[in-house]
Amino acid sequence: MRGLLDSHCHLDDPRYVDREGVERRRLEAGVRVLVPGVRPWEFDRLRHDGGARGWLIGLGFHPQFIPSGLMEFPFQLLGKILRHESAGAQAIGECGLHRPNPTPMPDQLALLRLHAEAARKHDLPIVLHCVRCHHILPGFLAEFIARNGPIRGVIHSYSGGAGLVPVYEKLGLHLSFGGLITWPTATRPIAALRAVRPDRLLLETDGPDQPPYLPPPPDLPQLQRADLVDRRADRSRVAQSEPSMLPMIAAKAAELRSVALPEFLEQLDANAAALGW
Ligand SMILES: [Zn+2]
Repeated sequence: MRGLLDSHCHLDDPRYVDREGVERRRLEAGVRVLVPGVRPWEFDRLRHDGGARGWLIGLGFHPQFIPSGLMEFPFQLLGKILRHESAGAQAIGECGLHRPNPTPMPDQLALLRLHAEAARKHDLPIVLHCVRCHHILPGFLAEFIARNGPIRGVIHSYSGGAGLVPVYEKLGLHLSFGGLITWPTATRPIAALRAVRPDRLLLETDGPDQPPYLPPPPDLPQLQRADLVDRRADRSRVAQSEPSMLPMIAAKAAELRSVALPEFLEQLDANAAALGW
């Protein structure tokens, strides 16, 4: 088996102050990572870092990072990049829909369409973000697929509830879950996690966001351990998630799905391989 894949972590996020430490712990934990791009003007740097550090990368424009009043610019830039330059990328995204958002929904949908077209053109999986838009996304995808043909990919940090799981599976998508499932109060994501078909499940840290409830790994340096504890919340909560925490999230997910961990890890590896990751 290859290393466990963290299917969504923003390792290039400047909030990671000790990036070398984060990378060292990731490698020690044997975790592979997909780093989705969120701003087109950062693609060259992401390609460079991805190549140098062995990350899988995605090229995308996150719906929360669209500069207000500048729709024409991202369209031109992104269109150019996605139509001609997928080199070095293993995914298209992060892209998708987000509410509330100053960018109007028709513009968000137009940008999402551009990504979906690029995913088909380059035969790459799409990495989808969907927050408070699960009443819109399935219809959009169904119509896109009917007109253009199938797409493959993942809805990251799935928040759509257990009822919509089979709908997205039927659309050909994988569903990915992060640190939220480790929270004892997270009944909705846990119910969704349990509803996913074994062959459509992926895991992620969504680092540096979505910190797990689990305590930080014991090998974190003492000072940093103290820094990581979010004192506003439960003492066992860490302030930032990172790829080295994925094995803990995987163990919790296996427990919640009542499957043996070795068998679960094999399945996750096969699921990632099915997307070319
Ligand atoms: Zn993301």
